[in-house]
Amino acid sequence: MKAGKLVSCITAALIFVANARAADWKVIRQQNRDYVSFANVAEFYEFPHYSRVDRTVSLHSTQRGIRAQAGTSELEINGVRFFTDFPILSSGNEDLISAMDVSKIIEPILRPNRIRDAHKVKTVVFDPGHGGDDQGAANEWGTEKAFALDVALNAREQLLRAGFNVEMTRPGDVARSLDDRENFANSFTDAVFISIHFNTSNGGAGIETYALAPAGVTSNAASEDHNSISDVQRCIGNAQDEQNIALAAAVHAAILARLSVFDRAVHHARFHVLRNIKIPAVLLEGGFLSNPDEGRRIATAQYRRQMGLALAQAVQNYDAAVNFRSSGATLAVATNNLPPHNRSITEPLRDDVTPELNHADKPSISINGGE
Ligand SMILES: [Zn+2]
Repeated sequence: MKAGKLVSCITAALIFVANARAADWKVIRQQNRDYVSFANVAEFYEFPHYSRVDRTVSLHSTQRGIRAQAGTSELEINGVRFFTDFPILSSGNEDLISAMDVSKIIEPILRPNRIRDAHKVKTVVFDPGHGGDDQGAANEWGTEKAFALDVALNAREQLLRAGFNVEMTRPGDVARSLDDRENFANSFTDAVFISIHFNTSNGGAGIETYALAPAGVTSNAASEDHNSISDVQRCIGNAQDEQNIALAAAVHAAILARLSVFDRAVHHARFHVLRNIKIPAVLLEGGFLSNPDEGRRIATAQYRRQMGLALAQAVQNYDAAVNFRSSGATLAVATNNLPPHNRSITEPLRDDVTPELNHADKPSISINGGE
């Protein structure tokens, strides 16, 4: 591994970020990596409130907030959980976050409109997982392949209505190789790719959203059943790291806002289906079929419809966020002009909105288009 080259790349990323604003990054070497303090992050992104109580550091403004705890690999941005690429550290009276996590997570989430090479989204490519002989996970009410397809069809209907072109890696219950799925996605430009799966395990519950791990970062997939490789190689999809994580955050936040589900975080992983894609791409694990309560909810048409609507909303949120241009205004004007101009890709979760929670729905045995 070319460690020296990697470090210089990360430093270059921070310098790029730093050039955009007046505040300077004060890089601190820890564990052979570049780190910065959360106080520095607060200063750079102009969070007026910064506190550090026990091991929890908190940065917030009226619009947005970051929380983290030294000793963990977790970060909360506007109430949405992210797994960091490297651990949050404590040093003296400072808590530190890696430069990689600032440039690959915090920056694209907080300032999606600064992501380079982000295009207006014209086409959405849905990739319902599995299909044909490969049913994926299953529970007593149905299969992962059928539930995933139904969520995609619900999202498709909504996005077509909103004027997007929508493509499916599989239009029905047919098998597709992961390479075929990637190649299909790569035949579209001005497009995004959303792969839909459901999880299974003993005791698990909630949603996970994955973006391709940046080069030099170990995959942190909780489930290794979708062809992840746990190395640190650079892949074709790494050209869109910032777009990938922004799309992942938009998907994750939209589902949390619409459905009452446990937040298992946005992750970086190296799933096969995300590695060689040339458009922004994410993989959603939309819940655990193995969980008695969640599995039953996923089996309802109403729940899958809500998840489809959330995906459609996520694409529109992503598109609006990355393409926002302050029409020639200076950044100072744009930042004073709060929402929508300075809106993070993950909007704060509002307490006054009760997410969909309808346990009265009956699991539907026949699934639209699934078989
Ligand atoms: Zn799957």
